[in-house]
Amino acid sequence: MAGRSTVPGDVVDAHVHLFARGLFLEQVERGRALPEPLARALETRRLGRRGEPLPDLAPEEMAAWYAHRLDEAGIAKAVVMSVFEDSEYMRRFVRAAAGRIFALTTLDPTASGAAVLLEREMAAGFRGVKLLPVNRHFYLSDPACRPFFEKAAELACPITVHYGVTIGPTGDLRYADPTDLSPVARDFPEITFVIAHFGAGYFSETLRLAYQCDNVCVDSSGTNNWMDYDPHGFTLAQVFERALLALGPERILFGTDSGTTAPYRSWIAYQQRRTLEEIGLGERERDTILRRNAVRIFSLDEEELR
Ligand SMILES: [Zn+2]
Repeated sequence: MAGRSTVPGDVVDAHVHLFARGLFLEQVERGRALPEPLARALETRRLGRRGEPLPDLAPEEMAAWYAHRLDEAGIAKAVVMSVFEDSEYMRRFVRAAAGRIFALTTLDPTASGAAVLLEREMAAGFRGVKLLPVNRHFYLSDPACRPFFEKAAELACPITVHYGVTIGPTGDLRYADPTDLSPVARDFPEITFVIAHFGAGYFSETLRLAYQCDNVCVDSSGTNNWMDYDPHGFTLAQVFERALLALGPERILFGTDSGTTAPYRSWIAYQQRRTLEEIGLGERERDTILRRNAVRIFSLDEEELR
């Protein structure tokens, strides 16, 4: 499934997910506790609010399945956010999907072995790290994270962070404020940070952080239903406009937050592409958001970058 280099007009989804029975099973086999909805999904083979079927495919089959699904949706490349750390299933998927679908690993940056694990995962082909402070309950400003960030800086490893509200069952909003990243983004300018979902309810904090630190970007992924809980009453067009004003097009990445149980979220891709047109962005700026930023930050078109 060799991936070709992207060209203007292609769309790259910088934030998708992978849920598969084998991935969950691996966790159980390694003695790790699964959150309740995932444990139930192992038995019922269904996941999510609508009880969609959970794919039961080997990693290599999953890579082919995923590539086909992107073909159908007209998406050139995609970046999967891992939800489990140190997963052989994900490593096999990354190898099989090489060139077309990429992945960020995930880990606990406060753990003593985090730097070593990061080095190993990057060598295995991951393109960065996804951190989940809200779900895993850590502060990135914690000095215990320093060795991890030093390694990430050495490897020029991009980091996507989910702050803000979450549908995850373990969410704790005490860890949700992107302001916590401020001293880290300041001290590690070599690392590109991508705040997922425009900060998921912490849009103001995200913009303030981005004001302080040039190395902070946002992704637009998901339904952005956090807007319903935001007193500003922004529309998606206004969110994009504020982000463009504050960050510029080079620091906004397109994403849908699609999983693998429900169908690919073509409606979100359509809605966001239309919104970018409606607010009057030119072709070049739209291409920057829809393709170029993800390619640059996550090194998705290797042959051109070397
Ligand atoms: Zn996500």
